[in-house]
Amino acid sequence: MSGRLADLRSFSVRTCGTFPFFRVVKRHSPDEVSFSRLRLADFDAVGTLGVGGFGRVQLVQLKSERTRTFAMKVLKKRQLTLAHQREQVRSEKTIMSQTRCRFVVRLYRTFKDSKYLYMLTEACLGGELWTLLRNRGHLEDSAARFYLACVLRALRYLHARGIVYRDLKPENVLLDAGGYAKLADFGLAKKIGVGKMAKTWTFCGTPDYMAPEVILNKGHDTSADLWSLGVLLFQLLAGSPPFCGADDAQTYSAALRGLSALEFPERIGPDAGDLIRKLCRDEPSERVGTLDDDGVWKQRWFEGFDWDGLDGGTLTPPVIPDVSSATDTGNFDPFPADGEEEPPDDDSGWDRDF
Ligand code: ATP
Ligand code: MG
Repeated sequence: MSGRLADLRSFSVRTCGTFPFFRVVKRHSPDEVSFSRLRLADFDAVGTLGVGGFGRVQLVQLKSERTRTFAMKVLKKRQLTLAHQREQVRSEKTIMSQTRCRFVVRLYRTFKDSKYLYMLTEACLGGELWTLLRNRGHLEDSAARFYLACVLRALRYLHARGIVYRDLKPENVLLDAGGYAKLADFGLAKKIGVGKMAKTWTFCGTPDYMAPEVILNKGHDTSADLWSLGVLLFQLLAGSPPFCGADDAQTYSAALRGLSALEFPERIGPDAGDLIRKLCRDEPSERVGTLDDDGVWKQRWFEGFDWDGLDGGTLTPPVIPDVSSATDTGNFDPFPADGEEEPPDDDSGWDRDF
């Protein structure tokens, strides 16, 4: 297993203008009305699920019904302002609150106070796909196929609505208690619309996963996610991503050299290799897509896959996570308590949409 994967999580790069920011950063279906009545004081924190550059994600429970738990992403407003991330976090909220897809983490509602923004989402207690990969080193084809299929369903949903996700990586793919995978973290997602003119230019993503057109600032669209999907498939099967260097600059150079300069490990069979090559093509418009009839799922590597079972939730996942209760955080790495000082107030009103 690569030391890189074993020890290091990869961090998303956000930019505003030209300044890069490095971010160290059993399902209920409750009705909407009950959420609108809830206040922050109705929740207790159970533990930390993740930590990012702008705050942390906590597992919270309803005081009135302790078996109902949620993931609450808590973001420091002042830090978002300083990092020029106001627009991005508004976009994160808008996109997530409009999304209804079983392969995307559901956002129920948001809260705010003078210091923080809060995003109340469904809790995925199976942990990150990244952790599963770290523990196993690499995945067998059948397991990789299941997780890639979940991600593909999520991307298809988003791409059909003109949304580019831009931060695909195993850290952002979460497993629910039943073992199904869901896309989380819409901090870099953007609605760009559909059609040839729909493009965006912000330099952002996670270096190992960034498509050449993003690195070169040529303008990118939803095809950038297809490149990342190819990188993800490679990483799931091989244990480490195809393009990585000692630093970000070397990683970018490796991605720009592309797959032709790379020898595939034996673990990646011919059909998987063929799909990876079709996803990681230099020319974005030549990548096999999420929306076309002869798209990713029609490729030989997916032959015989039970898509109806996946969509209906009857397909048995490759791993059933060990989740003993709604408050079990055992599938997440432990995080130290938040020792940081309280952030200053930010009452400037930019968060009125929250
Ligand atoms: P960004 O990449 O925008 O900096 P971030 O990485 O700080 O954001 P997230 O990816 O949303 O924030 O969350 C960080 C981690 O918290 C995730 O990788 C995951 O481990 C955990 N987490 C987030 N949302 C959930 C959730 N709904 N259920 C369980 N764990 C979650
Ligand atoms: Mg993340």
